[in-house]
Amino acid sequence: MKVILIRYSEIHLKGNNRGFFENALVNNIKHCLEGYEYKFSKQSGRYVISQFDEDQAQNILDIVKNVFGVYSVSLADEVPSNYDDIKESALAIAPQSGTFKIVCNRADKHFPLNSMQLASSIGGDLLEANNKLTVDLHKPQHVVNIDIRENGKTFVFADTIKGVNGMPVGTGGKGMLLLSGGIDSPVAAYMMAKRGMSVRAVHFHSYPFTSLQAKEKVLTLAKIVKKYTLHMTVDVVSFTEIQTAIHENCPEEFMITIMRRFMMRIAERLAKKYGCGATITGESLGQVASQTLESITSTNSVATMPVLRPLIGFDKDEIIEIAKRIDTFETSILPYEDCCTIFLPKNPVTKPRLDKVEKVESALDVEALVNQALENVETIVL
Ligand code: ATP
Ligand code: MG
Repeated sequence: MKVILIRYSEIHLKGNNRGFFENALVNNIKHCLEGYEYKFSKQSGRYVISQFDEDQAQNILDIVKNVFGVYSVSLADEVPSNYDDIKESALAIAPQSGTFKIVCNRADKHFPLNSMQLASSIGGDLLEANNKLTVDLHKPQHVVNIDIRENGKTFVFADTIKGVNGMPVGTGGKGMLLLSGGIDSPVAAYMMAKRGMSVRAVHFHSYPFTSLQAKEKVLTLAKIVKKYTLHMTVDVVSFTEIQTAIHENCPEEFMITIMRRFMMRIAERLAKKYGCGATITGESLGQVASQTLESITSTNSVATMPVLRPLIGFDKDEIIEIAKRIDTFETSILPYEDCCTIFLPKNPVTKPRLDKVEKVESALDVEALVNQALENVETIVL
């Protein structure tokens, strides 16, 4: 019978909280496997999925290895703990050529051979069956694992496939992502989900200055991000009136700085409403004029909760590499305008002084504009 072995990572370390982390991991794996039939069990510090449709094995492996908190997965044969069955399985999964070694683990001390004896005996069987194989105990190209368990069953498996690691989503608090249509913010969501954070999102759009396709693009991104965050709700906030008010009342070089402050205020209000303890942005230091330390200072000064910026020290290249890997890149580069690109000043201030920003902004009724924007939020559960 084929089974899938799931090993988990850092959550080992969590001492008393271990149950909390393990429950989250199990729930998340089951959530991702919705629609599949299988049996799930826990055996000596790892999880075992069995009784699934073997044609679906590859799909299940692909899904499970991408759940945060999963260290590695293997497709294994589960056979009765007797020599002939173990041998047959080892022969079936052994490589066709190259170097190998057998790694045995014997939890069942009643098994007649000890680990060393079994490894050398099965190794001998493989060599006899295929003369293109040689043993290399130090740097083998392939490993055949034999794990004799206490319940009379043995797992035999070849590859161990690396999982994504990280922490189970739901164990790291809740964050409100400021999600644009760009490359960075979806990656920021991924990074925080990888550390166990539950993420929801807020998007600011400026219809009719920006198109409905621009909003659709963001929802498409949010759907892709949901593969990692497991749940995703997007609060779509109309930014048109705020942008117009800034445009009409403030010097144009402060446009972006003041917009950012409004975004942060509104994002925080929504964050509090939905029980989030932090906001998340895709900012990276120095990437553009609005991401200098001075610009970040002026946005940050309206924040009362932590603003998490997981990409702050990343190069654009590095961010793009992750965006490609998590499948958001192709959508992010679709050519729809962001609300930030309309009314773009020719010469934005790159080092806004906070006192100056506050003075310029005092031309606006900030509280009224924020409240007005919050009255018309479209909440989309994906
Ligand atoms: P991104 O690729 O994430 O759009 P960017 O490099 O284009 O980032 P900015 O446009 O300066 O950088 O945006 C910085 C951050 O501000 C974004 O990562 C995002 O978190 C937030 N942000 C920008 N525009 C919006 C928007 N329209 N709605 C929600 N958040 C936004
Ligand atoms: Mg952007």
